[in-house]
This record gives sequence, structure tokens and C-alpha cells, in this order.
Amino acid sequence: MDTKTGNTLPGGYCNSLTEYARWRTREVSIGDIPMGGDNPIRIQSMTTVDTMDTIGSVEQTIRMVEAGCEYVRITAPSIKEANNLAEIKKELRKRGYHVPLVADIHFTPNAAEIAARIVEKVRINPGNYADKKKFDQLNYTASAYQSELERIYTKFAPLVKICKEYGTAMRIGTNHGSLSDRIMSHYGDTPEGMVESAMEFIRICEDLDYHRIVVSMKSSNPQVMVRAYRLLVETMVSEGMNYPLHLGVTEAGDGEDGRIKSAVGIGTLLEDGLGDTVRVSLTEEPELEAPVAIALVNRYKSRQKEYKGNAPACKPTAYVSNEVNVFIGGTQVPRVVVDISGKNLKDPHTLTDVGYKYDPWLDKYHMGEQSVDFVYLGSTLPSFAMPGNLKQLYDYPTWRNIQDKSNIHPLFSLSQFLEATERDAHLNLVRIRYADIGTPAFEALPLDKTIIFVVETDVSHGMADQRQFFGALSELGLDNPVIIRRHYPAADFTGLLGDLTDPEEPLSKLQVYAATDMGALLVDGMGSGIWIDSPATPVDKLVSASFAILQATRSRISKTEYICCPSCGRTLFDLQETTQMIRSRTNHLKGLKIGIMGCIVNGPGEMADADYGYVGAGPGKITLYRGKEVVKRNVGTTDALDELIEIIKGDGRWIDPE
Ligand code: SF4
Repeated sequence: MDTKTGNTLPGGYCNSLTEYARWRTREVSIGDIPMGGDNPIRIQSMTTVDTMDTIGSVEQTIRMVEAGCEYVRITAPSIKEANNLAEIKKELRKRGYHVPLVADIHFTPNAAEIAARIVEKVRINPGNYADKKKFDQLNYTASAYQSELERIYTKFAPLVKICKEYGTAMRIGTNHGSLSDRIMSHYGDTPEGMVESAMEFIRICEDLDYHRIVVSMKSSNPQVMVRAYRLLVETMVSEGMNYPLHLGVTEAGDGEDGRIKSAVGIGTLLEDGLGDTVRVSLTEEPELEAPVAIALVNRYKSRQKEYKGNAPACKPTAYVSNEVNVFIGGTQVPRVVVDISGKNLKDPHTLTDVGYKYDPWLDKYHMGEQSVDFVYLGSTLPSFAMPGNLKQLYDYPTWRNIQDKSNIHPLFSLSQFLEATERDAHLNLVRIRYADIGTPAFEALPLDKTIIFVVETDVSHGMADQRQFFGALSELGLDNPVIIRRHYPAADFTGLLGDLTDPEEPLSKLQVYAATDMGALLVDGMGSGIWIDSPATPVDKLVSASFAILQATRSRISKTEYICCPSCGRTLFDLQETTQMIRSRTNHLKGLKIGIMGCIVNGPGEMADADYGYVGAGPGKITLYRGKEVVKRNVGTTDALDELIEIIKGDGRWIDPE
């Protein structure tokens, strides 16, 4: 244990894999609102209006503060915007708002050096602060690399000295998609490269005895983002550092997908006690971001405060399961289970909500990309014929009495399974908890390859509880597929849908909670299926959230993915409107990733692994990309979407919508 911080890091990147224990970071003052240490996890966001629009920036900042933002970031692309931060700050103070401001800097040390004298914090991107990125993969010899580091030192040191003198904090904010050529040449666009990119700058700060540092490792891919933050913590610890962490998933998009993608990345890290401030990036009005961040963060207020120092029961390594009946486990995609036991089981149209559209003329069902794999019916039998490829689950006593059991499987409790007089020849789903492991009932379990565990939990730190279940199975040498089931009680998730400015909004809260609880396991390769059990939530919303979680964790792709920037003062077109327009014509292209970026400040790498890019190139002008390659430059906005579709068609990746 580190006596200074109280941190122990048995799993390498967090204090405990079993109990909630926040990683204790150094406290950093940012204006009047300190971050890190024992301070609450702070909420922040970024304005989207032009920084030269003083009143627009002030009014948007106030809306963000009212929504819960504790810091507000504003872009400063050049000296004139950096100078205008003084006007924005003056007007805010005049109106009684003392929120700390953060200047967002890319490429322009001269703007940073002005902003650092005005605002409470500057954010620099180590991928482009001292480098004019050429987007080339260059080769550096050891001595050339060393002289590059010396050049960075010379360029960066003046800003550090100004921050020291003015008491200004700094975020060293790495983006997966905008690493310098130097880093790319040695590490590629990997989590290792992201971490080293920040560490180069942090080491300079330390050399200059400057420590008001916050660090981030953002990516639009939650898996990459999670790995980078974990590696960052390990690296900082090995070098005796504990700077606060700013968590975020970039270009998460909007609506349900944006919320779920953000929660998979941010929530996974929060579960392990990492993170001192959160920014949720949505392609929506910035005041809609704070409620999502608040919903994410508020869960940890009631988690155990004191870490007791238990040894971890397992490490989060992937759980490799056996494949059962060429349907679940092994290399099969994770399956989706939904409870329809309380629905109208006299009407086949009920199944529309679970992705099976009934055609009364043909008396058949049409499936889609988001058709669920299992429906749970409890003890109620439907009065219509179910689709042939939809598996039905019944409680064991009911299942036992069903005559024709084709595609019909039992759900047992552990004791029911042990005492059962009849079991299914194909799939036996058995409800279980981590606490069952090692009990006489568990010891008596016949090792049967048809068993699919349905792991449940009722402890508050449920993700870690379920993670221990996977670890324990591995230690026992078992490889049965495991479906992750989480129950969200009706009392906590009732109410209606729509007031997105409220962090307690039930649907948004459910999306965030389920994405955290299940996403944190799926990103580490655990889970052959998911079952969100939320009686108060409409079934179609449960289905949609389930598939969105699987998509965000890249474990099952069922739709087009949009990698959209949240927009900022640099944005060259209306992001929200354009995203809707592109979505309306391409949302049937399952598996395709389309980047929609307001500008090209960080190069095409910023779109991460998008297949195609639609990027603001200038007022009224769009540049279209295939991967990182420009295909058409400066296309007028009225033609750009048609041109993009032509490119997709030319590549043979277009299909006509139904
Ligand atoms: S990509 Fe979007 S959020 Fe990033 S700087 Fe450009 S307009 Fe702003």
C-alpha cells in the first residue's frame, strides 16, 4: 500500500476488483472547485457556439452550469478566440457565475499561452501541441526521437511556466485518433501510444515542478479507451504519479447510442474506482450532457466509502466459454434475452417489440437485425404459434408440463436443477449468484455441458460481484456459457420518458446503468448473453438498449455505427441536423461505421476506425473519406450525402433499404 495515497493496486490498475474503492489521486485546484483527492467526481462539458460570440458563449455556459456542469470548456483555436475568453469570463462574473473555464487548444501554443493567463485551466492535446501533424508514418532513429523530445520540451516549457505563475491547471488530453507522427512511428495508434503521448508531456511538467495536471485518454471505441486509462494508471503508479483522471468517450454520437457508448467506457472505469471528472460527449445540446454524466456518477455516492483491502478473487481476464448447440457461447455472438411474461400473449403482434413482425396474411414472422434470441414467458403459455427460430424460456415447473418442447427450454433455480426429474437435452438455463459458488448445492451440480448459467446479483457493487463469478468458474475449470442478468426494480425506473434534462429520467438512467453493469464485463470478454430485467421499461426499449450495449462493446454488430463529434466552436455545419440526415439514409447498413466530424482539426485519425468520413472542410464544404483516405474534397453540402452514398455503392457496400 502507498502510505501517501492509501492506494493499493493489486490488479495492476485499481485498488480492488471486488470492492468499490476509488483510486486516490492528487488534488488539483481549478479555480474554486478542486478536483481529485476526496472531492466528488466532477461534471463538465464544452460549449458549441463560436467563441467569438461572447453573449452566445456566456448564455450557453450558464445553461450548462444550471444543468450541473462544474467546469465549462471553450475552444480557443487561435489568438483572437483566446483573447475573447477574457470577455466571456468578465460577462459571466458580471452575471454572478464563477464556474471555472477551460480553454481547449489544438496546434496553437500561442493561443494556449494567452488563455493560460485568463482561464482556470487549459486543455492541450499532446498529439498536436508541438507537432504539425503530417499524417505520415515516419521512421525515427533513437537519436532522432530524443531530439524530438527536446524540441517538444522547448515548445511546451513556456506554457508550463505560465500555468505555474498564474496558478492555472492543465489537462493533458490524449485522443486515440490524433497521436503525433513520432508516437505513431513507435507505437501505432495503440493504448500504449496514447499513454506514452501523455507521459512525454507529464514528465516535462514534473521536470519543471508543475503538478496541476489532469490526464485523459479518449477514444470513440470504448474498448480502446478503457485499456488506455488502465494502462495510464499502471504507468503513472510505476513512475510515482497519481494525477486526476478526466474520463470521456469521444464522438459517442447522440440519443440512446451516445448514452450507452459513453456509459460502457466511462462506467467501466468508474466501477473500478477510476475517474475524477466526467465529460459525456453527445451530438446534442451541451446542457443535455451533464444529466447523463450525473446519472453515471451519482451511483457511486452510496457505494462503500472505505476500502477494506480484500485481495481480489479474480483478474478481469476474458472468460472463454464452451459453445452449446451451435447457438450460445464459444464464438457465437452474445445472445439477448427479454422478459415478455407480463405482455399480451394472445396477440402475435406482441412480438413486434422483440423484433419479430407478424404478417397475418402470410401467417409468418419477419425477423430483423435486432430480433432477440430468447423470450422469457415465466409460467404463461402464448395462445399463438411462436416463430420457429425464437427460443422460449419457461420456469421449470411449467416447462415440464409442455408436450412439444421444440425450441422451448427450462429456467431453473439451482435447487430446482439439482432436484429436477427431467432436464432438457439441449439447453438448461440455471439461475445462480457468485455467493452460490462453493455451497453444497453448487458442489452437487452435475457438470453438464447443456448448462447455461444465468448469473444474477443483488449486491450494490454488482458488476464486481458478477465478475468474481466468471473468475471463480475459470478457476474451477468450468466453461459453461454465462448470461449476465441484472434486475432494475420498477420503483427506481418508473415514470416517463422524455425529460432528458433530468438525471433521474428513467429510460436514460436505465440505459446508463445497464451499459455500465453489463458493458464492464463484455469489454473484458465476459458474457455469452445479456438479460436486462426492468419491469417498468417498455419491452422495445429493453431490446434496443440490449443491442446498443452489444454494439458499443463491439461484441455483436446489428446496426450502422455513427462516430459523430459533439461539435464545438470550430464546427463547420449543423452536426445534429446533418447526423439525422445521414442516419435517415444509411441506418440500414449494418456494421458500417460512418464518421461525421465538424472539422478536420485532428486529421482523419480522429474518426478512429470509421469506414467512411463526412468532414467539414470549410463553410458549405465537405470532404469525404474512405477510412483515412480523402476520396472527394470540398463537395458542396447539398450534394455531399449523395456523393458519400455513391462512394459506398462504388465500393460494393451499399444495400437498398427494405
Ligand atoms: S471535430 Fe468537432 S468537436 Fe472536434 S474540434 Fe472539430 S468541430 Fe470541434
